[in-house]
Amino acid sequence: MNIHEYQGKQLLKQYGVAVPNGKVAFTVEEAVEAAQQLGTPVVVVKAQIHAGGRGKAGGVKVAKGLDEVRTYAEQILGKVLVTHQTGPEGKEVKRLLIEEGCDIKKEYYIGVVVDRETGRVVMMASEEGGTEIEEVAEHSPEKIFKEVIDPAIGLQAFQARKLAYAIKIPNELVNKAVKFMVALYTAFVDKDCSIAEINPLVVTGSGDVMALDAKLNFDSNALYRHKDILELRDLEEEDEKEIQASKYDLSYIALEGNIGCMVNGAGLAMATMDIIKYYGGNPANFLDVGGGATTEKVTEAFKIILSDEAVKGIFVNIFGGIMKCDIIANGVVEAAKQLGLTRPLVVRLEGTNVELGKKILNESGLNIVTADSMADGAQKIVALVS
Ligand code: ADP
Ligand code: MG
Repeated sequence: MNIHEYQGKQLLKQYGVAVPNGKVAFTVEEAVEAAQQLGTPVVVVKAQIHAGGRGKAGGVKVAKGLDEVRTYAEQILGKVLVTHQTGPEGKEVKRLLIEEGCDIKKEYYIGVVVDRETGRVVMMASEEGGTEIEEVAEHSPEKIFKEVIDPAIGLQAFQARKLAYAIKIPNELVNKAVKFMVALYTAFVDKDCSIAEINPLVVTGSGDVMALDAKLNFDSNALYRHKDILELRDLEEEDEKEIQASKYDLSYIALEGNIGCMVNGAGLAMATMDIIKYYGGNPANFLDVGGGATTEKVTEAFKIILSDEAVKGIFVNIFGGIMKCDIIANGVVEAAKQLGLTRPLVVRLEGTNVELGKKILNESGLNIVTADSMADGAQKIVALVS
């Protein structure tokens, strides 16, 4: 789960991470009022959306005086920001962060992630702050430094110091940077984050080390023990289809292609996306209907897939293990009838009662193409949508 920058900063502040003073605003009036209360000669008006790259897209503006705050707030509120993280459709700005302008001397990067290779939390740091870290990783990977953290003892001061020196934090500020990193790590572990990214971390003219941006992601499996975090959820920032899917306990993730996939089991769902790609197609989603797919669940899954207008065809790839193929076939037929499905549908069934399942599909009178294998099904659906 994601939260907004202003929420992330409030949370980090509780752990002793230095952040600029700021206030959230939902309207232009609130924005001006917030700037007035901050009372600094320069304030920054920042679009709050669940995506980075706002600066480049015109979502971060430095305002000198209340008139400029008003102008920028008017400009940004309600605007659809398109950044490299929003996808081409962009995201509408509904909240602003009004923040003290900061006298930036230099921008750095600090990220805390769960590293799958070592199975541990890793802190990454770079002196190339402010830019996209993906670009630094691609063009100058030697400028990213990492410390693997032992979960039993946490981030050690010597590790933080090593990172601070590696990214050339001025000597006299190394202690502040160490305190910052340890506080960030503590927040990360305490709140079960999956990502905590500070880009940029800045050194200021007055010798402070603070977070100018904050991106926090939380492990959704741990949210049951963080009611306070769950309250920060902003449903308007999430994909409508994904919210719908979570109501029916379906694991659904929207993607950019045009072949809707309905699969049982996460492994098979991944393999299905791979094989569609292999035959030159593009999956429109990841969807795992789970082991106990009922007709109701299958119908819901179809509805969610079909609500995506980019979907030009559907590939159902089900292994009947716990669930028998004939029951799934009935579910598919029922759902296709209910929804008046007109887009091409390829179904590949395998497992218990597969013959009966295929018979039900063939005799349904619906325009369903059956497939004998995953490869066969993938080729058929790719051909049908192209
Ligand atoms: P994004 O990563 O979405 O572009 P950031 O919060 O990182 O948004 O802001 C982009 C840039 O704007 C920062 O790299 C920094 O240079 C500048 N900036 C952001 N907040 C402030 C602030 N409070 N004071 C001065 N400059 C800021
Ligand atoms: Mg940033």
